Amino acid sequence: SSVSPAIPLIGSIDQGTSSTRFLVFTQLGQIAASAQMEHTQIFPTDHIGWHEHNPIEIWYNTLTCIQNVAQALKNSKFSIDLKSQPLQAIGITNQRETTIAWNTITGVPYQNAIVWDDLRTTDVAHTIANGDPNRLRSETGLPIASYFAGTKVRWLIDNNPELRADLLNTERRSQVRFGTIDTWLIYQLTGSKAEGRATTAAAANIGGLFITDVTNASRWLFMDLHTLKWDKVLIDTVCGHDGSLSDDGVSIPLSALPDIKSSSEVYGRCATGFGEPAIEGTPIAGILGDQQAALFGQGAFEPGEAKNTYGTGLFLMMNTGTQPTPSTHGLLTTVGYCLGNEKPVYALEGSVSHSGSTIQWLRDQLQIIDDASESEIYARKVDSNDGMYFVPAFAGLFAPYWKSDARACIVGMTASHNKNHFCRAALESAAYQTKDVFDAINVDSHVPLKELRVDGGGTANSLLMQFTADMTNVPVIKPVVKETTALGAAYVAGLAVGVWKDTKEIKSLWAEEERFVPSMDSKLREKYLKGWKKAIQKSMGWVD
Ligand code: ADP
Repeated sequence: SSVSPAIPLIGSIDQGTSSTRFLVFTQLGQIAASAQMEHTQIFPTDHIGWHEHNPIEIWYNTLTCIQNVAQALKNSKFSIDLKSQPLQAIGITNQRETTIAWNTITGVPYQNAIVWDDLRTTDVAHTIANGDPNRLRSETGLPIASYFAGTKVRWLIDNNPELRADLLNTERRSQVRFGTIDTWLIYQLTGSKAEGRATTAAAANIGGLFITDVTNASRWLFMDLHTLKWDKVLIDTVCGHDGSLSDDGVSIPLSALPDIKSSSEVYGRCATGFGEPAIEGTPIAGILGDQQAALFGQGAFEPGEAKNTYGTGLFLMMNTGTQPTPSTHGLLTTVGYCLGNEKPVYALEGSVSHSGSTIQWLRDQLQIIDDASESEIYARKVDSNDGMYFVPAFAGLFAPYWKSDARACIVGMTASHNKNHFCRAALESAAYQTKDVFDAINVDSHVPLKELRVDGGGTANSLLMQFTADMTNVPVIKPVVKETTALGAAYVAGLAVGVWKDTKEIKSLWAEEERFVPSMDSKLREKYLKGWKKAIQKSMGWVD
């Protein structure tokens, strides 16, 4: 590549569901160095459907990735030493909704993070919905579902005894902090080591910035989508009014919620002496939730432009401009990004909980493949699904159905079906789910999508890409830089410090690598889609 040390470099922390990455980008949007670490997926065995992460492990992994990238840059032919040639800025993008509670005096999390797809708050969501899951839609853009951070906050205050005791204590309640992963990592990066704290918190800092950005805040059910501020009525509706827990006249102390900032501004600088000299003093200048970061990294700055990300889950998102577009077809209305003092840009989103994780399930639970890429090898050994469909509703169905009572099912099996069909049906399910949210976006936005820009781990699978093009009947396009999520966070950070002038300049850096053109006969497409619709119906209403 054409990296030169004279070119300004921008760092990007990409904290995802399965791994943490640190990447350094050039001004041309090319990767100069990167490091990645997986973290432990905790599935408590006594609680089906629970999913946790250890916040300290994630913080350690972030630091290690930064150290590895600093070393890689030093050893590269450009021999860049970040201590003498610091990064211009760092941006952060994160798995959204995953929620952490910690104490600001000890720095210690009250418990593991509750991951976005954790099902423990299904009942809480039912209670809050009170018969109408859409009752907070006009204010928040969201249906009431276990997915969103506010339901996890409610669960924590109701079920974590230590946290509850702190909230009930008039002196300690102001020490409680709730945050998503962006908030947690920025608190660590800008904080300092606590003296005499518990050894279990060896890596945790205290006293850092306590902030989030509008895109992350829009996923709690606590933020009003129009004012972009925490809303007392919403918080009370979700948390259940309990005057004993706060002095604010709200069910939880407002001091426990991070300040909502734009997605692109200098929030502060990495602290000195907190553990990583390579980024000491470097400005933190951008935050975007992961899907919003991918939208930005794909250069989808005009209303009607969209991207589809095949990661752990699957997320189709369309830019809808400076006004929120309500959905009547099971999509989320969310903030796409907000650059400094500019008007916020809104988006419609179709979130699907299981896509790449279905392939992980084939690997880890069924153990019929050793590696995700093998799914394509086996799937190609058969010409079609031969009538077999796999609905991966492991955690219920998200968009556009929002059925928490759905469970995964495999239907249409005959004795001639084999491992190859399992792989094929699992891959095809990602394309069918894309088609479901694709149709919903076309109806809700009144703007027919003409193409799909794609990214994420699943785009390595050409069978899946072609089948997506065949099901949606529009071209599926892969960009040269696949790390669009990390790139989006680098872009917002770089914009804030002047590395890039504007979104026009950023758009000019986007380049196409590969295009999958629809080639399936429409009769055959209709046949497949009909089978999928039948399979979806079978998955619903499974849990009493
Ligand atoms: P996340 O950001 O959610 O952690 P990534 O974008 O890193 O996700 O993608 C990882 C996912 O992609 C995994 O769930 C994995 O199963 C899936 N994946 C990776 N390679 C392939 C492949 N060749 N075919 C299908 N799925 C794949």
